Amino acid sequence: PVPLGDRLAAWLGRPRPPRAVQAVTDVSLTVARGEVVGLVGESGCGKSTLGRMVAGIYTPSEGAVLFEGAPVMPGGHKRSPRVQMIHQDPFASLDPRMKVGETVAEGPVAHGIVSRAGADALVAETLRRVGLDPALRNRYPHQFSGGQRQRVAIARALALNPALLVLDEPVASLDVSIQAQVLNLFMDLREAAAGGSGLTSLFISHDLGVVRHVSDRVAIMYLGRIVELAPTRTLYAAPAHPYTRALLDSVPRLGQGRGVFHPIAGELPSPLAPPPGCHFHPRCPHAGPRCRVEAPALLPVAPGQSAACHLHHGGTAAAATA
Ligand code: SF4
Ligand code: MG
Repeated sequence: PVPLGDRLAAWLGRPRPPRAVQAVTDVSLTVARGEVVGLVGESGCGKSTLGRMVAGIYTPSEGAVLFEGAPVMPGGHKRSPRVQMIHQDPFASLDPRMKVGETVAEGPVAHGIVSRAGADALVAETLRRVGLDPALRNRYPHQFSGGQRQRVAIARALALNPALLVLDEPVASLDVSIQAQVLNLFMDLREAAAGGSGLTSLFISHDLGVVRHVSDRVAIMYLGRIVELAPTRTLYAAPAHPYTRALLDSVPRLGQGRGVFHPIAGELPSPLAPPPGCHFHPRCPHAGPRCRVEAPALLPVAPGQSAACHLHHGGTAAAATA
């Protein structure tokens, strides 16, 4: 069987498509030890790309990703067991020909974290941590449900005792009831880890409801830029960026009859040709002349809260003079 890392490396080693998309621009984000930062945006906004750069799978063309002060090693996953990534589709990320026990043991053995002889105990303990019966270790991924497979994927990451987890839409492919189970598992793991080094994570999702439950802070991304960053409670109670407000308004609320969506006006522009100035201006109800020419920087608007919007920084009326 070809380990995932090798398949990924082979895929990444292929020549790049001729037209490079600048998926992520001017992003600055720090995740503190023990903290969970949620990263939210519509599909195509660059959140997965950012997650992959954090995990060392992609290398940024400019700038750097630092982990504990040192640049993240290219090759991510395989080279550095300290940063682990969990993907949306657990079926695609698990080797169908490997028993799940072997899948969980593979990384720790390869990195010398545990001996072959010691792997059994680690596998049993790790499967138990994610709520799976260790007796299931001899089964293959297709013998599990989607939720169980995601538990296996989480176990594979945890077995390496990572200092940082990057979770890219970890529940998006699961049924809603199973989503809740996996999210609860994540929160239980967090609580269990809180006494030790914590479960420092970047939690990527298009779903504001999901992120609200698991994150200490939330970053909102739009067309490759972070447009708002705030403590979770602040973001939901007092969003500062018009896009964040529009996203919150588009979430159907339970208990208001049948949930009503208020879709955001206009279409998501192509990331290949984002609008000039503030990328959000064609869809923004507050856009002024300045917004069409000058990209707003992500600046503080309240303690712990930053937004990239001229409304908070000098107004939208005047066009840029610089
Ligand atoms: Fe809207 Fe202007 Fe703020 Fe962009 S900078 S979000 S267009 S008000
Ligand atoms: Mg994605």
